[in-house]
Amino acid sequence: MTTLAIDIGGTKFAVALFEDERMVKHQRQATDRAAGRDWMLDRIGSITRDWRASHRIDRCGIGFGGPVDFEKQRVVFSTHVRGWDGCDLPGFVQEQIGVRPIMDNDANTGALGEALYGAGRGCRPLFYLTLSTGIGGGIVTGGATLYRGADSYAGEIGHLTIRPDGPECLCGSRGCLERMCCGLWLERDYGRPAQELFQDAAFAERYVVDLALGLKAAIMLLNPARIVIGGGISKAGDALFGPLRAELRRQITAWSRARIDVVPAALGDDSVLYGALALASRT
Ligand SMILES: [Zn+2]
Repeated sequence: MTTLAIDIGGTKFAVALFEDERMVKHQRQATDRAAGRDWMLDRIGSITRDWRASHRIDRCGIGFGGPVDFEKQRVVFSTHVRGWDGCDLPGFVQEQIGVRPIMDNDANTGALGEALYGAGRGCRPLFYLTLSTGIGGGIVTGGATLYRGADSYAGEIGHLTIRPDGPECLCGSRGCLERMCCGLWLERDYGRPAQELFQDAAFAERYVVDLALGLKAAIMLLNPARIVIGGGISKAGDALFGPLRAELRRQITAWSRARIDVVPAALGDDSVLYGALALASRT
C-alpha cells in the first residue's frame, strides 16, 4: 500500500511517499509566504505528478497549517499564508493523483503521528503541542482517536488568552499563547530566530512562564498521560524543557497530583508526515 503524505506549514512544506509504514521518498521546501497559495499548489502538483509517474498512489493524507473543517474537508483559512480561505485542497490533490485525500489541521495530524509512531506511543490521553511558526494542539484519546470537538476546533490552544492586556494576535484577540510564544512573533519581537534566543538562559526563564500558562490549561482540562511538544522551537531541547518542567511544577501546585510528563517530539520534522500516513490509513 503506497501513501502520499503532505505537510503544509507556514515556514515550510513537505511531501513524502510511504510504502506501508516505510518512508521511501521525501521532499521538503521553504514556504514562499509572499507567493501565497497558488505557488504552493503549483509546487505540490509538480512533485506529485513526478512521483505518480513512477509509483501507484493508493491513498493520501494531508496536514494543513491552519484551521480545517474536518467534516467538510475544507481549509478554513491560514493566518500565515494568504489565499487559502475555503480552499478545497483535497479536491485539488485528487485531480493530481487520482485518489481522494483526507485532510486535518497540522496539529491534529502531528498529534496522530507522535501518538502512533513517536514519543506518544502507549500514552493516552495524549496532548500534542506544535510550537512552530504558529501554535496548535491535538488531543488523542483511546488508540488512535483524535478528539476534534463539535466544529473541528478542539485543541486550538494557540488562541487561549495568556496576557489579557498583551499585544494583538493575528486572530484579533490580545495576548494569545501564540502571540506570546510562537516562532513568527519571537522573530518579529526580538529580531532573532528562536534557536538563538534559547541560548540565553534568562530569555528561556521568561519564555516558559507564558508557555506553562497555556500548557497548564491542557493539563487541568485533560489530565494527559503525556504532553509531546513538536515544531521548530522544540528543537531547543533541554534549554527549553528543563525550565518548562520546573515552571509547570511551580504553577501546578502540589494539590493536583496530575503528572507533568512533557517531552520533545520523537519524529522531529516528520511528525505531521507520519500523522498524514496514519490519517489516510485509519480514519
Ligand atoms: Zn490569537
